[in-house]
Amino acid sequence: MLEIKDIKVELDAEAGIVKAIDGMRLTLARGETFALVGESGCGKSMTALALMRLLPENGYITQGDVLVDGQDVLALPESGMRAVRGGRIGMIFQEPSTSLNPVMKVGAQLIEAIETHTELRGEAARLKAIDWLRKVGIPEPERRIDDYPFRMSGGQKQRVMIAMTLAAEPDYLVADEPTTALDVTIQAQVLDLLKQLQAEHGLGLLLITHDLAVVSGMAHRVALMYAGQIIEVAPAAEFFAAPKHPYAQALLRALPDATRRGQSLSAIAGTVPPLSQAFTGCRFAPRCERAMADCASTLPELWAHGGTREVRCLLYAPGRINTAQLPPEPQLHKPVVASASDATNAARGTLLLDVQSLRVRFPIRKGLLQRPHGYFDAVDQVSFQVRHGQTLALVGESGCGKTTSGKAIVQLLRDIAVIDGRAELGGKNLFDLSGPDLQAARRDIQIIFQDPFASLNPRMRVFDILEEGLLALQPDMDAAARRHRLEQLADQVGLRKDALARYPHEFSGGQRQRIAIARALAVRPQLIVCDEPTSALDVSVQAQILNLLRDLQAELGIAYLFITHNIGVVEYIADHVAVMRAGKIVEQGACESVLNQPQDAYTRRLIESVPRLLTPS
Ligand code: SF4
Repeated sequence: MLEIKDIKVELDAEAGIVKAIDGMRLTLARGETFALVGESGCGKSMTALALMRLLPENGYITQGDVLVDGQDVLALPESGMRAVRGGRIGMIFQEPSTSLNPVMKVGAQLIEAIETHTELRGEAARLKAIDWLRKVGIPEPERRIDDYPFRMSGGQKQRVMIAMTLAAEPDYLVADEPTTALDVTIQAQVLDLLKQLQAEHGLGLLLITHDLAVVSGMAHRVALMYAGQIIEVAPAAEFFAAPKHPYAQALLRALPDATRRGQSLSAIAGTVPPLSQAFTGCRFAPRCERAMADCASTLPELWAHGGTREVRCLLYAPGRINTAQLPPEPQLHKPVVASASDATNAARGTLLLDVQSLRVRFPIRKGLLQRPHGYFDAVDQVSFQVRHGQTLALVGESGCGKTTSGKAIVQLLRDIAVIDGRAELGGKNLFDLSGPDLQAARRDIQIIFQDPFASLNPRMRVFDILEEGLLALQPDMDAAARRHRLEQLADQVGLRKDALARYPHEFSGGQRQRIAIARALAVRPQLIVCDEPTSALDVSVQAQILNLLRDLQAELGIAYLFITHNIGVVEYIADHVAVMRAGKIVEQGACESVLNQPQDAYTRRLIESVPRLLTPS
């Protein structure tokens, strides 16, 4: 048994002492998968680092014990801890590229792990390393053992990491977002591998992830964290069938999928409180739809509930359950209300953008002078249509050409790639335009990127960021009209007017994405290319942005070319889907028919690989 007993971790930060983990306790048995879930900054990775004694320099464990089969590892000297770390407790991180030494062959790294943690040496260790590479599904392990990491794909590198970790024959394995950086088909393979190896070796697996669907397919028990504390612990099946804590309920309702099409997702208002403050009541109270009078002044404990669960919420305080007095559960979904003009509604569904035989080639440059030596076809003979007021989702795994297609249409690749084919908007081929015609087309098509922080100039105030587009694309608008338009935009995307005077770093990730949406909306475009606009956001914030995009489409009739790898988002928001693989579209059609009756073998594999969640009824 691995036990974490009432751990507290503090970080010495500029803003003061941050209580990153406040009274965490959990147990992990051998052979069990225990999932620690929660949104970014909730303390789940910090828990893993604390139990491995790998906290950052400014982090301290101020209270609590970590017991591995009864032995207190926090009391061990660092030399003793090294045998525990990597020996009895293995760890896999999110990004295999940063965990493997790039200048050492993978075999040498694997042999080093085997020689450090087992009795095997020399040729015997090498044979064991080959055996492990075979076990984790690396083809031709006798040859690949002498490869450097850069010769392997992301999925293969993660397999090597798993082999290195398990070769030390640990009793427990901590896997921190082990598949987050991988494509969905590779993720499915790595998760299956972890399950199989866990069953073979009887490992206790502490799985740390933000992906609830992955958890529902892997875990025996689940703990949900919020603001440095565990707020619900339950057997996985019970948790997903009927979560108890209001935050858990809201989180599951915020997940997009086919059943919620046409409805608003349940977004959780507000943000996680800063952990440098002292709490006098429930940490979730300012955001809780079921908050009661004493929630802000009474600290809830992690109370046992129903024999198998624990919940940190006053609704479940012992002796308190009197259902007649409890606030009602919030309504599941609010319907999307469209209040578009008659003209907008009449245009909805008519052809807006017609892309035919799009081909994008990048020059391969070599030598001192970087002369082109041939071309790489990133997009090859791609054709699709986007209709007024509708959403076409372009889906596929990384490197399939979906982002390149979007950028080519927005004219962001004119100077760095060779573009052939047609993209007609209002009867004009975008690739033939120049001068004022190109300027006008740029007004009609805007783009939103995945990382709102990287796409907003940190030195400019929000007002100036939004005004920039108006000045460039609508130069005849006077200053008063521009201010009025920008205030109207802030309102439209749910930002307060005073946000206009602030800088991007003063906002959360979701608010920054709202600014990026406002910037795109400023020039009243007909089409917005949304390039993974929610994949860097937490589930609750993703719900806010998806709701906003849906509402704007209903009200303004904007069309979206929605580039994503998230099938749940596609099911929720898209009217049509085009599936891309290796630069080509392999299948396209109405969302329901492509996702429910895929005809192409790759589409089938892609959809089957998506982890599914057992959602509450
Ligand atoms: Fe909501 Fe109160 Fe429960 Fe906190 S204690 S989660 S505010 S009902």
